Amino acid sequence: MPAEPVFGRLALIGAGLIAGSIARRNREQGGLAREVVVTARTPETRARVRELGFADHVAEDPAEAVQGADGVILCVPVGACRSVMERIAPHLAPGTLLSDVGSTKGSVIRDVAPLLPPGVVFVPAHPMAGTEHTGPDSGFASLFEGRYTILTPLEGTPPEAIERVREFWRRCGSMIETMDATTHDKVVAIVSHLPHLIAFTICGTADDLSEETRESVLKFAASGFRDFTRIAASDVAMWRDVFLNNREAVLEMLARFTEDAQAFGRAIRWGQEEFIVDRIARGRKIRRGLIERKQA
Ligand code: NAP
Repeated sequence: MPAEPVFGRLALIGAGLIAGSIARRNREQGGLAREVVVTARTPETRARVRELGFADHVAEDPAEAVQGADGVILCVPVGACRSVMERIAPHLAPGTLLSDVGSTKGSVIRDVAPLLPPGVVFVPAHPMAGTEHTGPDSGFASLFEGRYTILTPLEGTPPEAIERVREFWRRCGSMIETMDATTHDKVVAIVSHLPHLIAFTICGTADDLSEETRESVLKFAASGFRDFTRIAASDVAMWRDVFLNNREAVLEMLARFTEDAQAFGRAIRWGQEEFIVDRIARGRKIRRGLIERKQA
């Protein structure tokens, strides 16, 4: 790892899976920041971060956390970005590099960019890595390894600021892609948000069945349903905010999915074997493609 860290003092606002993984990465491998300051909303989480010891300093609130920081990353649910930004904006020194890890980019840019103080550069980012676990205990240093991080820089951003954020995520083990926020939001709507919507829905449908059937569902849950329940175990606040803040793209993908699912249903009804075989074969092909790209 190169000797000079990307940041001197890095403030992570939020102390869950993503912030905890960044801080642990720095603890174990170095190279990200000379000092990592973490803060969380509740005293319970702050106390737990102190116990776990993955941060160099635990700040009582976001305003204190960003004092003297040359790098700040918002690691809170996307719906909380505006209120956090309102808290920290008066305390951000000129020259600070601000970033985030939010799963939606259009909404975060909408909420954060207008509040940027002069001299503070904002480079939005989304590490496409996660698990269904949340909170300060859930992070681990290798979370981002071999996974993509998407940057959605605003027009006119100094290239050296973008490069600094790229280098940061490279040192976390990520591969980096850059795209505009609208494209990002459409891509994640299909690869992440719609699959979660389907998982939450299928679990809800099973839960609505009669008591007796539900027992059987749980008893005989083969890998298909079990995989859905893993996705559906995700954090409530995070996913509430994702759906509310990527509304257009999720609704567009849901409409397309619904049409395709109905076509599948029609093929089953009319015994259209060729259609059914083609759909299953396409699924297998996509899975093989993921394995070849080491993204499975
Ligand atoms: P997490 O484990 O649930 O942690 C969220 C953190 O944000 C906690 O420290 C929490 O503090 C704090 N927080 C929650 N609501 C807040 C509010 N209203 N105001 C201020 N702070 C608040 O979440 P995470 O998985 O790390 O996700 C953080 C961000 O990363 C989200 O924007 C998410 O979209 C994005 N992301 C998540 C994943 C994933 O798979 N999990 C992947 C990529 C990106 P307390 O504990 O004190 O409540």
